[in-house]
Amino acid sequence: MITLNMEEKKTPKKALILGGGFAGVYSFLSLNKEFKAEELEITLVNQNNYFLFSPLLHEAATGGIGTHQPVESLREIIHRRPGSNFHVGTVKEIDLARQVVKTTVGELAYDILIIALGARTAFYNIPGAQEYSLMLKDLADAVKLRNHLLNTFEKAAEEKDIAKRRELLTISVIGGGPTGVELAAEIAELVLTTIRRYYSHMGPCDVTINLLSKSSELIQQFKPRSRQFALRSLEKLGVKVMTDAVVVRVEKNKIILARGDEIHSNTVIWVAGVKAQSITTTPVLPYDVNHRIQTDQFLLVDGYNNVFALGDIASTAGESLPMLAQVAVEQGREMGRLARASLTHQPTSPFIYKSKGELVSLGQWRATGNVHGLHINGMFTWLLWRAVYWSKFISGTKQLKIALDWLIYFFHPRDISKT
Ligand SMILES: Cc1cc2nc3c(=O)[nH]c(=O)nc-3n(C[C@H](O)[C@H](O)[C@H](O)COP(=O)(O)OP(=O)(O)OC[C@H]3O[C@@H](n4cnc5c(N)ncnc54)[C@H](O)[C@@H]3O)c2cc1C
Repeated sequence: MITLNMEEKKTPKKALILGGGFAGVYSFLSLNKEFKAEELEITLVNQNNYFLFSPLLHEAATGGIGTHQPVESLREIIHRRPGSNFHVGTVKEIDLARQVVKTTVGELAYDILIIALGARTAFYNIPGAQEYSLMLKDLADAVKLRNHLLNTFEKAAEEKDIAKRRELLTISVIGGGPTGVELAAEIAELVLTTIRRYYSHMGPCDVTINLLSKSSELIQQFKPRSRQFALRSLEKLGVKVMTDAVVVRVEKNKIILARGDEIHSNTVIWVAGVKAQSITTTPVLPYDVNHRIQTDQFLLVDGYNNVFALGDIASTAGESLPMLAQVAVEQGREMGRLARASLTHQPTSPFIYKSKGELVSLGQWRATGNVHGLHINGMFTWLLWRAVYWSKFISGTKQLKIALDWLIYFFHPRDISKT
């Protein structure tokens, strides 16, 4: 016997998340927790099929972990919620009047839109910067950089002329922020462990690692004690730190500074900053001076009650919050509550960002920073740094894989096979 359910079925509202980075994925998890499948259908669009864990890119680029480790499958994450959708596609345009988003996989309609498209590398119109530098923003950049470094070691090993070999082994990292500092330290570790171990006729003295900062100190956003600790640690690792080094042009194998110096460098890595992604919208969205989408304290884009923006792409309530995973995660975690308030027109409390602190790693066993205002550095800080980031991975399987990789590299040298 067939029983007919005469009760009218309600159509769920549609939430569309643009971007599967920290802000997008944590928004998805929060909406999933807050809404039943009958209430809300969630769709996420991202240009790659993975969630990229950027804070570990420098380790992937230097063989500290496998190159596949800083990513998690987005389809696997989205699959957790029955009835949710995931598309690998590029967002082309948002039509706010029609409530649709044009993507490379077609038009997607929404009741609630969450814009979380992140940021991209900023070159500040410096001639040659984009053309002649390697970068570290996506997984492909990390793979390219790793292969380039390993290729360079092999070429240098064949070079009999010591001066030419040393020229080949000059590596310059441009950017004195946390990414530049972490990367320079990891490259130094790679050089120390690899060259000493495997290349009998070359030594670390053949390698020059320059770290260029346009400011008078490294990691300006950190407290003075952390800045000094970072500087001392890098110098111990053999990194040549150049401060007040304002780059005005990059040429093939050459960096030109405002003060007139020319630095000859076979490898130039540009990690000097990022800027918010730009997207075409009709009508044009409100932007702040840094071209980040302006939102209120409920993460709603100014002038809209169903369009949210968060993470690196947004500025919140007149404040340009730091472009950090920590901010994107905190904002994403609030999306369920904020979306419910928007859909039901009920009042809710605003989003308030409270920084828990900042940490920067300085190669194996060293890190510095502050936690809840307390300055810390050394081995314990490094372990804490790892534990904090490890806890931000989404799946238990990935956490296990990362932990195993870290464990293996405690006891074994880095993997130097090209990928
Ligand atoms: C090398 C590196 C190291 C970092 N280290 C740290 C750290 O140690 N601690 C920390 O707190 N922060 C760190 N950050 C910053 C942190 O990664 C970002 O603040 C964070 O990722 C921002 O999250 P988001 O979701 O806004 O952007 P993202 O995580 O960048 O996500 C944006 C997503 O949108 C996708 N996307 C972009 N454009 C389109 C489009 N047109 N169509 C479809 N998809 C699109 C991207 O592929 C990406 O998946 C680091 C960043 C880098 C690059």
